[in-house]
Amino acid sequence: MTKPVLAIAALGGTVSMQAQAGQKGVMPSLTGEALLAAVPGLSALADVRAETLCLHPSASLDFDDLLHLLEWANRQVDAGAQGVVVTQGTDSMDETAFFLDLLWEKNVPVVITGAMRAATQPGADGPANLLAATRVALDEGSRGRGVQVVMNDQIHSARYVSKCDSLAVHAFASPLFGPQGLIIEGRAVYLKAPHARLTLPAPVLRSHQIALLEATLGDAPLILERIVDLGYSGVVIAGFGAGHVSREWAQVIGRLTGTLPVIVGTRTGSGSTARETYGFEGGELDLIAKGARMSGLLSARKARILLWLLMGSGREDELEHWLAMI
Ligand code: ASP
Repeated sequence: MTKPVLAIAALGGTVSMQAQAGQKGVMPSLTGEALLAAVPGLSALADVRAETLCLHPSASLDFDDLLHLLEWANRQVDAGAQGVVVTQGTDSMDETAFFLDLLWEKNVPVVITGAMRAATQPGADGPANLLAATRVALDEGSRGRGVQVVMNDQIHSARYVSKCDSLAVHAFASPLFGPQGLIIEGRAVYLKAPHARLTLPAPVLRSHQIALLEATLGDAPLILERIVDLGYSGVVIAGFGAGHVSREWAQVIGRLTGTLPVIVGTRTGSGSTARETYGFEGGELDLIAKGARMSGLLSARKARILLWLLMGSGREDELEHWLAMI
């Protein structure tokens, strides 16, 4: 029987990290091929084509790396791959997954995975995660679900997944929504129907910058006041509670919205921003009246990515519509 073709891209991260002689701490060093070698069961499942696209800690990945990965993945699928797995660091995985999901137009599953324990640590979780990600990528039920994150035997949607713990093996969760599915006895089992796919064209402009600022107690809006001079084309604020800022920040936001898009999200890590509850200066009713957009259920981090992609294809006037759909 012919095996399905699976394409694996390695980008670095803890899953590829090892202790290096003469150096402190683990560093990315294992290629895609070496990662495969640690998972013997994998070659029985698929005809695997692995490629190492870069070896970065995931905080150093950038949008160009992701656009390059996207082109690579599209080429693999056009050449016959039935599933795509990406291994990378977990630190920025919620952002990379969302970025790729907004640009992935094919039905073929893309699954991102990594590890919380380095390859040389006892109980390294990379091999199990890679095997689980492969199973999800090859599962018929994963088709049309876009880009998903598989960690610790859970399947998460790119839209809702978040890294919620810095070091725990169970670091990933989808607050409010929960996982889309689980890996049970080696099989992908979906608990939820797929949500409607929303995709954007690849950005034409790529050099613009969107700032993300967190509102904190007693902080003067010094950076916000200079945001245009600093060269930013848009700003997202992770606001207090349901999307609130201080009076001083609200006044600056009121001056900025005529010049650049301002999105206000919540810094809480879970839940939606409000739209029609609070009337104080700096509350959402005031911010909306001043021209800011509320991010709704989308995290501030992901709202930043959405805005970057919309601006990159000249569609920033669709921002309100996108925030309402997601
Ligand atoms: N701790 C991170 C990881 O899980 C490092 C990184 O994101 O590259 O891979």
